[in-house]
Amino acid sequence: MKIFDDTGKLYFVGGVVRDELLGRESFDVDIVYEGNAIEHCAKYGEVIRTNPDFGTIRVNVEGVEVDFASTRSETYPRSGHLPLVDKIGCSLKEDVLRRDFTVNALAKSVKRGEIVDYTGGLEDIRAKVLRVLHDRSFIDDPTRIIRALKFSVRFGFALEENTRRLQEDYLANINYDMCYKRIKKEVMETFNLNSQEAFERFYDEGIYKLVSHVEVARPKVNAVEIVNSIGVETPWIVYAGGLDLSRLELTRIEQKILNDFEALKQTSLVDDFEIYKAFSSVLPETLAIYAVWVMQEPVKRFLQIKDIKISICGDDLLALGIKPSKKYAEIFDAVLKEKLKNPEINKANELELARQYVIPNLFRDLSGDTDSI
Ligand code: ATP
Repeated sequence: MKIFDDTGKLYFVGGVVRDELLGRESFDVDIVYEGNAIEHCAKYGEVIRTNPDFGTIRVNVEGVEVDFASTRSETYPRSGHLPLVDKIGCSLKEDVLRRDFTVNALAKSVKRGEIVDYTGGLEDIRAKVLRVLHDRSFIDDPTRIIRALKFSVRFGFALEENTRRLQEDYLANINYDMCYKRIKKEVMETFNLNSQEAFERFYDEGIYKLVSHVEVARPKVNAVEIVNSIGVETPWIVYAGGLDLSRLELTRIEQKILNDFEALKQTSLVDDFEIYKAFSSVLPETLAIYAVWVMQEPVKRFLQIKDIKISICGDDLLALGIKPSKKYAEIFDAVLKEKLKNPEINKANELELARQYVIPNLFRDLSGDTDSI
């Protein structure tokens, strides 16, 4: 696809310029028009949609859908919340000055290919540092603290000295009235890097306090190794699982993962049978949270025994003359307990165990309710 820029006012901006300079692949291509993109970029092809509030337009250019944004300036009337658009169609310089770090504030002219650097981003890419554009940056938008960790880990960049001090100042005095939807998004993206460094720094630098003011001590484990060995689908919730996540808007499944974890913490896990029963009904994420935040040994043991299954079923008990009732579950558990001690036993052994379980219980039950036998 070729974007024709007759005016010289189209620019690639943000991550795509940074990634090209770093020689890394970029998945998002952000293009701004210095001026009103809705008025100017409609001529590039069929207009798919526009959003006049932000001055953005999506156009089908030779079969590829391309987003064009107008240059815009923003203000933060409420710290920690979404900014208000101040002016659509401002200068490119005003547009880049609303961004988070100098390395994300670079633009590249589509027509001329030259880099436009108003904030020193080129030098910071060379020096491998992340630098905010002004001292109120984290107050305006604390999600930038998590973004800094994400980019720092992803690119191996350090926080520039003043930026680090501003981060420390903010974390010592957090305004919890903020937009947690954005916090959650950044926490997810950072932790989905599956990086032990991100895990350690999130806690050691006190970044976790943006999510929860309850103090936590980081477990001294290799959390990434645990996540990988269990094979979870949503790693972020494991790395964040020791926190009070009630400020984040959790999905039903995320809430279930955490509820099951809370229940597990109250569950006795002294033998294989208890471990098997407790862990076999929870998702891998809950297992991993338990391993990272409470202890690893029972989880390791569960992974060794989890594939042990009994072979007998309800029909087998019926064939033994045992009437269907809630006793079946008791019998299966009794057989499972033995099988966990001796996984070699076969179906005939299991039937024998079931019979042996029923006979002494028959005498017990004869003194009371005999219906179930
Ligand atoms: P990624 O490779 O993770 O997509 P990106 O730099 O493209 O990195 P985006 O979140 O897609 O990140 O944002 C695109 C651009 O928008 C950024 O490069 C930055 O210029 C700007 N931006 C994004 N989030 C913020 C923010 N919270 N504050 C200021 N500018 C931001």
